[in-house]
Amino acid sequence: MTWPGPDPGMKPIGWTATEDEWYVAEKRELLHDWLTGCERGFVSVAVGHNADSVRTLLTGLGMAVYDAGLSALDLQVERVVELDPQVLYCSPTILWRLVAQLHQVGAKLPSVRRVITNGEVLSEAARTAIQQQFGLPPESVMDTYGSTEVGTIAATCTACGLMHFLDGIYPEAVPPGALEGQPDLANRPGGDRCVLAVSSIKRTSFPVIRLVTYDVVQGLCRVTCDGRERWSIGRVVGRCDEVLNYGELFSAHDLDDLLGSAGVARWLAFNPDNALIVIGEGSRPQGFTRDFAERFPLHQQLIDLGLIPPPAIHFLGVDYDRFLTRAGLPTTVSGKAGRRVHHTFEAAWMEGLC
Ligand SMILES: [Zn+2]
Repeated sequence: MTWPGPDPGMKPIGWTATEDEWYVAEKRELLHDWLTGCERGFVSVAVGHNADSVRTLLTGLGMAVYDAGLSALDLQVERVVELDPQVLYCSPTILWRLVAQLHQVGAKLPSVRRVITNGEVLSEAARTAIQQQFGLPPESVMDTYGSTEVGTIAATCTACGLMHFLDGIYPEAVPPGALEGQPDLANRPGGDRCVLAVSSIKRTSFPVIRLVTYDVVQGLCRVTCDGRERWSIGRVVGRCDEVLNYGELFSAHDLDDLLGSAGVARWLAFNPDNALIVIGEGSRPQGFTRDFAERFPLHQQLIDLGLIPPPAIHFLGVDYDRFLTRAGLPTTVSGKAGRRVHHTFEAAWMEGLC
C-alpha cells in the first residue's frame, strides 16, 4: 500500500483547458441555486490555480463581477464599497483583512448576502469576524476546500453546516504511522482528527489514488443529509507537513535553505490563522529582511499590497531553548529531528525573551 503525497518541490501541476472548464462547471453546479438572485460579485483570491476561474464562474452565473486580482488592499476596500456586492468570493486571509479595514472606517456593505471562501483554512475567528461585519448567519458563509491535484474536494453544506465531500471524491484517514519520515505528524492529532487522503478519477489527466493531502481534518464521517448519505468533515484544521499556508503555499525547505546559509542552526515556523511567525536561535543575520524578500518574491508582493500580514521574525539569542521549553517542544540540536512547522502559537511564550 502506498500513500503518495503532493510533490515536495511544489512544481506547478498543469490543468488542461478541458479540465478548467470541468472545474468551473462543477463549482457552478455547487453554487447555482444558492446564488440565485445575486447580481454583483466581488472576487479577491490573489494567486493560485483558481484565481482566473472565479471570475469566469460568477460571470457564468449571470453576475457583474469585479475581480480585485493583485491590487492593493486599500484599493480593494474602495472598490468593494463602491460595488456593494451581494456575493464576496475571497481567500480567508484577504477577506479577514478587508473586514478589519471596513470595520475600521465604519463602512457597511448592506447588500452582502453570500460569502464564499477558498484556498486556505477558514479559522473560527475569521468566520466570526466575517459574519459579524455583514450581519450574516452561519449558513450564509460557504467554505470550499480543494487542492491543485484534485480540484474541489468539499464544501460547507448550508443546510447542516458540515463540509460534504463532492460526488466522486473518496476520502479516508491516513493510518497513524503510515507516513514515514514525518515525525510528530499532524500536530499530534487525537480524538476525531486525522490526516486526510483522497481518491478521485474525476480529473482524467491526473487521477489520484489515496493521495495524502497533508491536511488535518476534524470529524471525518458519513452522515445523512437531505436524504443522501455523504462523506463529511466538520472542518479543515491545517496542514501537517513542512508547507505553510501563507497567502500562497510557503515551503519551510526554502526557509531552511535561507536561514541555513545565514548561519542559523535552529529555527521554527508557526502558522496560526494563516500568518507566519519565525523564531530563530542566535542573533538576526544582517540584511535578513532583504534576503527574505528576495527569496520569496511572490509573498513579498502580497505583503507589500497589504493582502497578507508581514511575517513576524524573532531571533532569540541564547533564549531559544527557554522558548522551546515554554512551547512544550523538544530541545533537539538539529531542527531536522522534529517538525519545524507548527500551527498554534501563544504570545506568552515570547514574554521577556527578545
Ligand atoms: Zn448537509
